[in-house]
Amino acid sequence: MKKEKPSLAYYQNIVIKDTGDEKKYDDFKIISSRNLNKITGSLISPDISICKNCIIEMKIGKNRYNNYPFISCTDCGPKFTLLKRLPYDRINTTMNKFAMCNNCEQEYKDPNNKRFHYELISCSSCGPYYYILDNKGNTIKSEDPILLFAKLIEEGNIVAIKGLGGFHIATSAINSDPIERLRIRKNRQNKPFAVMSKDFTSIKNFAIVSNVEKKVLSSHMKPIVLLNKNDDYCLSPLVSPKLHNIGVMLPYTGLHVILFQFVDEPALLMTSANNRNSPIITDNTDALTSLGSYVNYFLVHDREIFSKCDDSILKVINDNPLLLRRSRGYVPSLIYTKKRFNDCILALGGQENVTFSILYENKCFISQHIGNIEIPETFIFFKDTIKKNLDLLNLTPKYFASDLNTSYDTTKLVYELTTDESNIFQIQHHHSHIASLMMEYGVDDLIGIVCDGMGYGLDGNAWGGEIFKCENSHEIDRIGHLKEQPLIGGDLATNNPLRMLAGILYNNVNNFEKFIYAHNFHFPQGDKEIEFIIHQIKSKKYIKSTSTGRILDAISSLLGICYQRTYEGEPAISLDSASINGDDISISPQIEKNVFDTTELLKYLYENRNKYSIKDLAYSSQCCIANGLAEIAIESATKYGIKKIGFSGGVAYNNTIAKTLKKKIETNGIKFLTHKKIPSGDGGLSAGQAYLTMNKITKM
Ligand SMILES: [Zn+2]
Ligand SMILES: [Zn+2]
Ligand SMILES: [Zn+2]
Repeated sequence: MKKEKPSLAYYQNIVIKDTGDEKKYDDFKIISSRNLNKITGSLISPDISICKNCIIEMKIGKNRYNNYPFISCTDCGPKFTLLKRLPYDRINTTMNKFAMCNNCEQEYKDPNNKRFHYELISCSSCGPYYYILDNKGNTIKSEDPILLFAKLIEEGNIVAIKGLGGFHIATSAINSDPIERLRIRKNRQNKPFAVMSKDFTSIKNFAIVSNVEKKVLSSHMKPIVLLNKNDDYCLSPLVSPKLHNIGVMLPYTGLHVILFQFVDEPALLMTSANNRNSPIITDNTDALTSLGSYVNYFLVHDREIFSKCDDSILKVINDNPLLLRRSRGYVPSLIYTKKRFNDCILALGGQENVTFSILYENKCFISQHIGNIEIPETFIFFKDTIKKNLDLLNLTPKYFASDLNTSYDTTKLVYELTTDESNIFQIQHHHSHIASLMMEYGVDDLIGIVCDGMGYGLDGNAWGGEIFKCENSHEIDRIGHLKEQPLIGGDLATNNPLRMLAGILYNNVNNFEKFIYAHNFHFPQGDKEIEFIIHQIKSKKYIKSTSTGRILDAISSLLGICYQRTYEGEPAISLDSASINGDDISISPQIEKNVFDTTELLKYLYENRNKYSIKDLAYSSQCCIANGLAEIAIESATKYGIKKIGFSGGVAYNNTIAKTLKKKIETNGIKFLTHKKIPSGDGGLSAGQAYLTMNKITKM
């Protein structure tokens, strides 16, 4: 059983008992699942990308699987997205409406067949099928719909394809016309699109792939991996404008494999089909009504998708794969905790990039990516998915965790779910981030650096550049942070980083008024808006923030890299991109009593902005932030005798900062921990909330 198990199987536990029974067994049977009504915290497999054997099988000869887009076997195929309830039998999946043909039934019953007892077995004569619709819903008849569809894409049409966890919108990745149309219709100015490429040879036409990236790209999770563009980059610049990297994935279903046989282009643009910030579309009729005004053709099938699931996104930094979005392929794999807890905790996460987590015994289930729950459709999806998964796992939560920010919809939702306030735990945003890292490593004591956008802090200010001393798995003390800076206009300062810059520099450098008025075209209300900003600064009418994200944004606008945030993190991400191949001019961090003075850094950049290249200033400013944070963390680790420093929060995706931190910390002989399984951004918040809640309860 240990040596010859199926490639994806694993044992949680093997118990060998001597029963004292001499009885000989001469056969082996798989018996029908009992209808257990208490399968608590059961294991469910994620969707697995098509395996090598299935690819070979669909390409050779004339068999029932020849070019069959739904081919799958015990080693591969959809699982989570089709499962309605446990136990995992065909009748409980969306394959229940397809009756097995005789051939499939024979394979199902044959112990020597690789599809022996494979619940989702189907073939071209009994399984689901693909067909094309135009945007009026009329079927386009064709002998070979996938071949025709490939042609429609290469002709410059915008199309939609129904896949595993939802629809993709697809179009050519080399032809800018349809991409421009798509950007206008989706109201998506700069946010990068991902592409799907046939194989590594095709990827060579536009991106560089390291060995680690190669391994992740071809893993059975088949996530989107952010790769650096190469000098031969041949795709449209509109795919990922102004960035040095591009999200790439490989084909992961039979359909993708067949489609790419007919595509000559090195990649196709593939993005989740939804309306701005709404959940991914899974239903054929919804697809037609929501997308029909700009999508020309639809490749749909007749199998229902039970659970929505977007593609996962990952980035490799320091040879470590870091999940930006943990979804298809990873969900619902469990994260195991060191400790066991006998009650169930439901943690609801934050506001954007929301996931929820269910913790029970020593297992934490983190949901698929839900998204921004300010959008009503997404909030409904959120609530539905919580219910679906609690039903699936047969669990009823006793404790509830949310963020400290009472304006978050997730925080409000808790009060709809329980009336017993003593079972509600509101966890500080950045405490949750670092707790998720502690959970991953099973570490109880740690110096934690959390760099992020903004989260409600214990002192009422917006935190986001924090250094914590974490002890005994649940005691978290703030021991250092970035300097508090004015957040002029609250959320407006997030969308327009020049507001942040003004708040920092107005009282601290010469001729700032001249500088800011020269940028008046970046303010929707022009000079009038600037006048009001200055008035706010003078009258001190603002809240304060220690956010690292906002500092990176301010630097990005000061250096003229990005003046407007059209998607989450854009100014900071563009700054990271602009710093590629930059040299470090060694800006020394100014620190007093564990507070990093960001004003001094911005002042230096302002005064020297014409002396060095943008590339060097972009790179050096990020190094300076990383070095300053590392300095505080290293000193604290030594002072408190703690041997590990961890890094979490949305800024952990920043190349320069993550690399500089690691180098400096490891040079000082201290272990540096970063995420491997849980997203360091807000997709990981719920896991940290659940974990910290457990630790707080068990220590009470
Ligand atoms: Zn297979
Ligand atoms: Zn069949
Ligand atoms: Zn956060």
